[in-house]
This record gives sequence, C-alpha cells and structure tokens, in this order.
Amino acid sequence: AAGVEDVRIAQTASRRQRRLIAVASGKGGVGKSTVSANLAVALAAKGRKVGLVDADIYGPSQPKLMGSEAAKPEAREKTLIPVDTPYGVRMLSMGQLVSADQALAWRGPMATSALGQLVDADWGDADTLILDLPPGTGDVQLTMVQKHKPAGAVIVSTPQDLALIDARRAVNLFEKTGVPIIGIVENMAGYACPECGAVSDPFGRGGAEAAAKDIGVPLLGRVPLDIAIREQSDAGTPPAAGNGEQAAAFHRIADALSD
Ligand code: ADP
Repeated sequence: AAGVEDVRIAQTASRRQRRLIAVASGKGGVGKSTVSANLAVALAAKGRKVGLVDADIYGPSQPKLMGSEAAKPEAREKTLIPVDTPYGVRMLSMGQLVSADQALAWRGPMATSALGQLVDADWGDADTLILDLPPGTGDVQLTMVQKHKPAGAVIVSTPQDLALIDARRAVNLFEKTGVPIIGIVENMAGYACPECGAVSDPFGRGGAEAAAKDIGVPLLGRVPLDIAIREQSDAGTPPAAGNGEQAAAFHRIADALSD
C-alpha cells in the first residue's frame, strides 16, 4: 500500500504538471466568467481533465453558469473537494463557500487565503485548471498571480475596452509578474442576428487585431454578442456544450489555447 509520503509526492508531481490558466479582464462585465466557463467545457470536450476555479469574489457566477447551484463542496482534512458539474468539468466557487456580502467585506489577506484554498483543493487528476480571476487589476489579483504563478494568462476584453486602457492594465499585471500572456479573447465582438445567425460589425472590424498587435499579444479569437449565449448562460447550459455556432466560437479558442 502507498504510504502517506508516496501520496504526498504523487500530489506534488501532479500539481507541478497541472497547467493553471488565469482568465482576467481589465474590468467587470466583459464576459470573463462566460469565457472561462465555456473554455473549460470546450477543453474538457477535447479530452482534457479540467477544473474550474471561480475566484471572482465580487460576483461568483460559475455555479449558475455551470448549472450547479445546488452542489456544495465538502472538505477532507481541511482540503476542499471540488464538485462535479454536468459538463465534465469539476468546479469550486467562492460563491459555494460564503455569501456575496461576506466576500465583499473581506480585506485583501482574507480574500487571498480563501482563494488559495480553492486553487490548492483536491483537484485529483485534473491536468488543466481554469482560474476565473476577479475583474480588474488590484492587489487581490496581483497577489493571486504572484502566489499561484499561472502557466499563462488569457485576457478577455470587449472591442471598446481593448481600444482603451483596461485591457492594457491586465496585460501589464501579468508582464510585471513574469506570467506569459497566451492571448486576448475579444468578446461581444460583432453582433449575431438572432434570426439568421449572421454576424455584423456595427463598430467595424479589425480593431482587436490592431490593438492586440499594438500591445504585442496574440488574438486568440472572437466571440460575437449573441442573445443565445446570454440565454444559454442564464439557463446554466454553457453554449460550448452544444453544437451550434456559439459552441464553435469557444471551441476554436480552446484549440488556439492548446496549440
Ligand atoms: P464578467 O465575468 O466579465 O463580469 P460575465 O461573463 O458575467 O462578465 O458576462 C456579463 C453578462 O454578459 C452576462 O449576462 C453574460 O451572459 C453576458 N454575455 C457575456 N458574453 C456574451 C456574449 N458573447 N453574447 C451575449 N451575452 C454575453
């Protein structure tokens, strides 16, 4: 039988092999949580063993997005056990542990230690952890990144915010901490017609490519503003788990992420 030390060595080894990917944004409301959830689902569909860490203390939305609001994580010897979702992804969310009011009242160190427990949970054989960071680029985000040293970061941005300063701040946060930026996802890029599915570009096209080039990071992909994405997200059925054009957008980004 394996001794305690063997188990510890195995855990350390698997933690080292596990790829932690931080998903960040310069501000809230750009679709960071939506992109995190759907990337996790798309990567799982490709055969990865994926864990989803909802570290968004200001608005933990993964339990809802992943159709798992009733699931409550247990703890074994002070280590949290992630819950299974219906989409082949295991998950832990700040929202499963404390009330929104409670989390909001936390000062930096308390938030950091609680978030650390989510990352250091019993993720078993997960090879990829998607970390949905709180929006913005404050101390909590900086400490999280310094402490857990993600293998890479994905920045989610809307076309408007890409052209402005917010996305750049997020890029700076990772550059400052030596975390490679895998790329930018342009969300709410163009508008998908609910009748025919055709995507139009009311604000023009090409701005994201130009901005990404200017900042010096790859553009991983674009996700249109699509009512179906909002509806499916609200219903707890991530679009990436389906097989429509909405799913394809997220699967393409997951492919780019895996390259
Ligand atoms: P953040 O995590 O950046 O605060 P969310 O992922 O919570 O943002 O998204 C904010 C809102 O926008 C949600 O209601 C979500 O369903 C919606 N949303 C996100 N991306 C899209 C999209 N591509 N098309 C339509 N609605 C979207």
